[in-house]
Amino acid sequence: MRDLNTELIHHPYTPPEGFAAPQPGVFKASTVIFPSVAAMRQREWKDKTGYTYGLHGTPTTYVLEERLCALEGGLQCLLLPSGLAAIANVAFALLKTGDEVLIPDNAYGPNKTLAEGELKAWGISHQLYDPMNPADLARKIGPKTKLVWLEAAGSVTLEFPDLPELVRICQRHHVTSALDNTWGAGLAFKPFDLAPASDRTLGVDISVHALTKYPSGGGDVLMGSVITRDEALHIRLKLSRMRLGFGVGINDVETILRALPSMALRYAAHDRSARALALWCQDQAEIVQVLHPALHDSPGHAHWQALCKNEEGGAAGLFSVLLDPKFTRDQVDAFCDALRLFKLGYSWGGPMSLVVPYDLDTMRTVWPSHLKQGHLLRFSTGLEAVADLQADLAQALAAALQ
Ligand SMILES: *Cc1c(COP(=O)(O)O)cnc(C)c1O
Repeated sequence: MRDLNTELIHHPYTPPEGFAAPQPGVFKASTVIFPSVAAMRQREWKDKTGYTYGLHGTPTTYVLEERLCALEGGLQCLLLPSGLAAIANVAFALLKTGDEVLIPDNAYGPNKTLAEGELKAWGISHQLYDPMNPADLARKIGPKTKLVWLEAAGSVTLEFPDLPELVRICQRHHVTSALDNTWGAGLAFKPFDLAPASDRTLGVDISVHALTKYPSGGGDVLMGSVITRDEALHIRLKLSRMRLGFGVGINDVETILRALPSMALRYAAHDRSARALALWCQDQAEIVQVLHPALHDSPGHAHWQALCKNEEGGAAGLFSVLLDPKFTRDQVDAFCDALRLFKLGYSWGGPMSLVVPYDLDTMRTVWPSHLKQGHLLRFSTGLEAVADLQADLAQALAAALQ
């Protein structure tokens, strides 16, 4: 008779095979058990038909990876512990000393910070390009350029670039293109199929997605993905992920699997509210400019219209405003503090509406000519009733900016 501790560990019960339920099973592992030394030696960690170690994947992470491929129209997917880790994984896999990366001037801030920090320290240079001027990108691509980042719409200021044209330029120069697809989320447009009618090959090489936002939908999980359609490129990215030891927690994977089925409905609801509030903001005297790609006079509106679904579900729940420069910074801060439903917080995609004041001067090389002077605020609409959100904006305007 073996000791109880041994019996508890080597218990004969195994869960049933044929158990079907709406959600997939949750499989956790750091260690994966092999039936024999021969099997251990034979199994290949890159091959998804088997399992070797928790960091390289479990049935649960493989299910999420497959579903994200379906969402974005990709063939291979890697999960990373955050959206920023996904961005870093792409940079670490594709860039070496002497190379250059091009980043749009309106990119997600920490992407630029990474270029100014680790990448620069490792002898990798970067240039910022004007995403609204494809000629500027074409001019800046040189022999050292090994990666071009794209974003549609741009972070915070939400300009919508001519994405197909930017990708065409990368293809013409044989430079890898990587889109931060967090805003489009695989729903507003298809990143690997940017010109379906005329050109089936026009798509980005890599789509990075902060699953922290809409796929999670809860404001409670951090995760990122890197999706490709090219096996060799995928393996390069996967080798870097393996060497860096980036892994994801299975409870977090489960949370995202739980939220994915409602993602398109939530995205459409966020979109509906954001458009209604953006339109309302256009009529407010305190606001000099409203930025939302579906608004006719928002920068890049025609590009948005050409690429994205124009009806509900074709835009994320974000809009930004420029408040009249006649207000002081203290007044603008007081406006943000006076909001009751819009909470002060970074990130977006969850049920709660959020607002962040930004200092554009510190974020851009030049103040873009398509933006009026003013105090920049970025709103993320949650899932509250839009009438309540509008009343909240109205009371805060009245309280702080009169
Ligand atoms: C939030 C965000 C990221 C980073 O995601 P984290 O999971 O917070 O690291 C990257 N890009 C964009 C556009 C984002 O909004």
